[in-house]
Amino acid sequence: MENHLQTKDWGLGLNNEHLIIAGPCSAETPEQIEKVCADMITANVVPDVFRAGIWKPRTRPGSFEGIGEEGLGWLEIVREKLNIPITIEVGNASHVESALKHGVDILWIGARTTVNPFAVQEIADALKGVDIPVMVKNPMNPDLELWRGALERLQVVGVNKLAAIHRGFSDAYDTKFRNKPNWSMPIHLKRLWKGMQVINDPSHIVGNRKGIYETAQRAINFGLDGLMIETHHDPDNAWSDAKQQVTPQQLREILDKIDFKHPVQNENPSEKLQDLRNAVDHLDDQLMDLLAERFSIIDQIGEHKRDNNLIVFQADRWKQVMESRTAKGMDKNLSEKFMKELLYCIHEESVKRQEKKLRGDVSAKKSV
Ligand code: PEP
Ligand code: MN
Repeated sequence: MENHLQTKDWGLGLNNEHLIIAGPCSAETPEQIEKVCADMITANVVPDVFRAGIWKPRTRPGSFEGIGEEGLGWLEIVREKLNIPITIEVGNASHVESALKHGVDILWIGARTTVNPFAVQEIADALKGVDIPVMVKNPMNPDLELWRGALERLQVVGVNKLAAIHRGFSDAYDTKFRNKPNWSMPIHLKRLWKGMQVINDPSHIVGNRKGIYETAQRAINFGLDGLMIETHHDPDNAWSDAKQQVTPQQLREILDKIDFKHPVQNENPSEKLQDLRNAVDHLDDQLMDLLAERFSIIDQIGEHKRDNNLIVFQADRWKQVMESRTAKGMDKNLSEKFMKELLYCIHEESVKRQEKKLRGDVSAKKSV
């Protein structure tokens, strides 16, 4: 099996096993940039890459929307003090043009831009023939294809140093996270695109400084390739994202606490693990057979409802199925949340299949 860490073709071209990107949410003043750099040196936490937002995509107008092109000039301070690559966010072709003019080393596309294929294409077109690494944050909504599509748009124009950033997904009802993480998605992206480096942005996932360590550690445990952590010399007075930024000293403490061991890729499983996997394979086979059987009965119910002019969705029956199965599952030590999600999923497929029976009839008549 290919090991993504050895396949640097799609990575950022830097050789660190875990890439650490840090810097303020926004560039605010030259003094701020200078102070962040100085405090990074003092805290002995010079990152691999320095980040700073120059144009800020804000949800509502009226808050600080970024300092604009002027701020690109201040990045010279970072070069002088830290001598590390600099990354900024771009949201359109004119941002790209300014960034290239000022010799920015790495670009990133923000979550609000990744959702919009027009904007991503505009950026990709502006990058035709330019050799610069680009990182693509996940879109606001958990849509892997959209994320992958943005990376592909860049690949098509010849950008061959690509990385992805998992920054969580907007969920108005979640109380724990500012942007809820979905760990299966970055892991899936890494499987689909061998060698793709996926960096985690715990700052925008958590939305407050307290939870950053825990989320960052989880990302590393899941095998992600680096961290982007918003860092400011005076977080409480930051002009954007004040609650989630950490000081360089706090960044040092977070990084010291994280166990950076990459999970072992188990190429040669032991006999015991192999036996257990065989048992799971066997049970999965049975599960598929049972599901197939269940849906074939659902199809018969669909035909019966169609022939007797009954509506597909029967609320009382659904309620009874949900309650009885959830209780049964919980008796067997399965969680209520898991049971409900599983039953919703099965039910949705059942309704779709029954509706198809109805529609199938209509289209069969039409095609006669
Ligand atoms: C940022 O990194 O400051 C930012 C605006 O991020 P996102 O696109 O993830 O919201
Ligand atoms: Mn931010």
